[in-house]
Amino acid sequence: MENIRIFCPATIANVSCGFDVLGLCLENVGDEMTIAKTEAPGITIKEIIGANLPLAPEKNVAGVAALALLEHLQPDRGFEISIDKRIKAGSGIGSSAASAAGALFAINYLLGSPLSPKELVPFAMQGEKLASGSAHADNVAPALLGGFTLIRSYEPLDIIKIDAPEELYASVIHPQIELRTMDARSILKNNIPLKKAIVQCGNLAGLISGLYTKDYGLIGRSLHDELVEPVRYILIPKFNDIKAAAMQAGALGGGISGSGPSVFALSRGKETAQKAAQAMAAVLDGTGIPYELHVSPINPTGIKIL
Ligand code: ADP
Repeated sequence: MENIRIFCPATIANVSCGFDVLGLCLENVGDEMTIAKTEAPGITIKEIIGANLPLAPEKNVAGVAALALLEHLQPDRGFEISIDKRIKAGSGIGSSAASAAGALFAINYLLGSPLSPKELVPFAMQGEKLASGSAHADNVAPALLGGFTLIRSYEPLDIIKIDAPEELYASVIHPQIELRTMDARSILKNNIPLKKAIVQCGNLAGLISGLYTKDYGLIGRSLHDELVEPVRYILIPKFNDIKAAAMQAGALGGGISGSGPSVFALSRGKETAQKAAQAMAAVLDGTGIPYELHVSPINPTGIKIL
């Protein structure tokens, strides 16, 4: 096989109580990429449709991740990457992660799959380092593996995939304001009181248990962020109203997606998720802030070949 076209899904990192350790994969929101083998070695980014992003491989997360993989595998061919960008960069739903994960998945596939999806995660993290300054895995892991992913440990990397209950849906609203990941990180506190750490541990454990046992009530009770949301919400216009509207519409819970500005809610069933999305949108209607709205099941497998 000489080339491949793939769907690279958007992802929600943190998922309220899992700051930097939890992420989930969306089913119907994502970019498309085409990757072709070339005679010449190395990486070329041929074109990017839908966004103004650098074509130089060392300045694009797809290129950085791909170069790290080539360095490791030393293939005798090169690769040419084309990206159809549908996830806006800086949206908080893993735009950079989709590109990094997609490039790795495709190159690995075209080389006969020498590495497993899990083994590709560290290379994708190199791309994330370029995008945000920190080599986090909470978007790239769910993009590569699907479902929910828990990063139990970064050193050594220990990732656990958890299948989502079938009826779980995500609603996402992306208010189109500029919010730099670095700014969203810089306002966080370095120290947390023991009491807050205890609440967070209880909720994270509760959410994981709820996912395994398909206990939607437990999932809802656990979707609470004691550490980051209380500090970060001021960066997102109408955050409290958006979240309250989703809950009133029947959502199980929600919070900031990644470092924002997107806000997500999780619901049981598509109908409730659609109602929650409409309720979130109604809050921004009339504010003059443009937004994008998504309703998606949880993607069980991650990147797909088209
Ligand atoms: P998100 O959570 O939406 O991915 P980030 O802030 O993590 O947002 O990443 C966006 C940053 O990564 C931007 O500065 C963007 O210029 C840079 N970037 C480099 N290459 C890409 C790419 N292929 N796709 C998206 N963003 C990219």
